[in-house]
Amino acid sequence: MNVDFIDDNLKEIEKKITAACDRCGRRRDEVTLIAISKTKPAEMIERCVKNGITFFGENKAQELTEKLSVIEDSDALHWHFIGHLQRNKVKYIVGSAELIHSVDSKRLADAINEQSEKKNIISDILIEVNVAMEESKFGVTCEETVELVRYISTLGNVCLRGLMTIAPYVDNPEKNRPHFAKLRKLLIDINGKNIDNVNMNVLSMGMTGDYEVAIEEGATMVRVGTGIFGERIYNI
Ligand SMILES: *Cc1c(COP(=O)(O)O)cnc(C)c1O
Repeated sequence: MNVDFIDDNLKEIEKKITAACDRCGRRRDEVTLIAISKTKPAEMIERCVKNGITFFGENKAQELTEKLSVIEDSDALHWHFIGHLQRNKVKYIVGSAELIHSVDSKRLADAINEQSEKKNIISDILIEVNVAMEESKFGVTCEETVELVRYISTLGNVCLRGLMTIAPYVDNPEKNRPHFAKLRKLLIDINGKNIDNVNMNVLSMGMTGDYEVAIEEGATMVRVGTGIFGERIYNI
């Protein structure tokens, strides 16, 4: 398989990230590029690693487990879980994913906490917020977020690092700017409440179609799949 196109795609994305940082006076190292490698083979991931990429995102427990076993030096990489997480899959994710981006209920937070306690670790998590209130999407509303933050702050084996959102699929990324701005404001507002154990600094927002706008609005992690690996093909 020829995966040379990945080198070019990554160069292009790196240029765009740097330019977006420059436009809004942010340092390049304030933004982490997470390569969303779901459905893509080990060979492509290894090519990313050759290009200096160390953060990868997967959205299925089984696929993550498989990749951890087949990818060369997978221990040296940062694996993030970005998908909807069922409670019966939590045991596969806790301890293997460094950050879970998609916590959207007390029950899920409890399950992660319980499993982390068993493994004697503290799991870093983000709350997924459905900022745009799309019916098809998971995530809590902005209004529900504070209550979930307060709840999670009482759990001993999870550490809340920040907020994540999946913005709507749009033709013009400018349409998502208000959603990104709203998530950033929500994070600042909640930090301002001085809740014990809560000091969030991660904003996971922006995908292939809108990561530049997301960076301008304060994203600290952008999740890019198609832009690096090309279109995904699902065999259903
Ligand atoms: C698939 C996925 C992405 C990457 O989407 P692209 O448009 O391919 O960049 C980002 N975030 C989440 C949560 C995803 O499921």
